[in-house]
Amino acid sequence: MAVIDRLLAPESSFQRRFFFLAQRFVAGESARDAMNAIEQLNADGMTATLDFLGEDIFERDVARRTRDEYLELLALIRERGVRSNVSVKLTALGLHVDEELAFENLCSIALEARRNADPFVRVDMEGSAAVDATLRLVERVRAQYDNVGPVLQAYLKRTPGDVEAAIAARVRVRLCKGAYNEPPELAFKDMPTIRRQYMRLAESLLTRGTYPGIATHDERIIDAIKEFVDEHGIARDAFEFQLLYGIRPEIQKQLVADGYRVRIYVPYGTHWAGYFYRRIMERRENALFVLGSLVKK
Ligand SMILES: Cc1cc2nc3c(=O)[nH]c(=O)nc-3n(C[C@H](O)[C@H](O)[C@H](O)COP(=O)(O)OP(=O)(O)OC[C@H]3O[C@@H](n4cnc5c(N)ncnc54)[C@H](O)[C@@H]3O)c2cc1C
Repeated sequence: MAVIDRLLAPESSFQRRFFFLAQRFVAGESARDAMNAIEQLNADGMTATLDFLGEDIFERDVARRTRDEYLELLALIRERGVRSNVSVKLTALGLHVDEELAFENLCSIALEARRNADPFVRVDMEGSAAVDATLRLVERVRAQYDNVGPVLQAYLKRTPGDVEAAIAARVRVRLCKGAYNEPPELAFKDMPTIRRQYMRLAESLLTRGTYPGIATHDERIIDAIKEFVDEHGIARDAFEFQLLYGIRPEIQKQLVADGYRVRIYVPYGTHWAGYFYRRIMERRENALFVLGSLVKK
């Protein structure tokens, strides 16, 4: 384990040498790299949400440094005048150390974000063990700062209840399928069922929710959403499609051309291994792309 930890440490020469593989999914290692990527997205008619990569932090100091990075990032967004908000992970803000630490850090970020043109702070959803704590902290922070909202995952069996609670509380939700390997007791495992649940939840959020983020690259879902909003007379500025940086850029541009709002999730930073791993595991062709790049090197 110690060897793996050393290999995957951000400052290790192994990570430095292999960053070129992650570059398709990660905007860069610094906030300034990310700003350049966002300027291009803004020029193409899209907004962004910035994620400073990192998760599963177990040290108080590191969690505070992550908070500070977000505070600087929010100032940089203001200074550069880019159209972007931020996405955070509570395990990067100290959830494993102490729930109060994550709460305080999220409050600081939400307060600072209120100075920005787009003050919204999205709280990413992590593995199922973190769902209750994440929703609890979002609710607590929202009692003081209402510019915060969670992600809900359509693969989890519990999510219909969480969607109804979010609708009742008028919270902005990002709906995604879910990216973690969950047990069958907690999550649907087959794609048709996940798609069906995604559509049902998206329909509830679109008709009764507050400015939902429809986060997917699944063309079947995207087409069904377009049809649904047309049939129900839902305005194109009442929701947004959200996609990941570097994935299906042709769909991103087509949605903008068709008059939909599009937000791109832009990760940056040196802790790219976990994020990169999830993107690789999602798609066989990504693993092949990585192998191909290694062979070409
Ligand atoms: C903006 C955004 C935010 C997200 N936030 C979270 C979060 O907070 N928590 C969480 O658990 N998950 C999150 N996810 C990930 C999500 O849960 C899925 O794992 C991911 O989006 C793949 O599902 P899909 O709906 O795109 O459909 P899929 O059926 O997986 O993909 C549809 C098509 O999109 C393309 N595609 C999808 N993924 C990839 C990829 N990795 N590489 C290349 N092509 C790909 C392929 O062409 C594929 O056929 C987020 C996703 C998005 C778009």
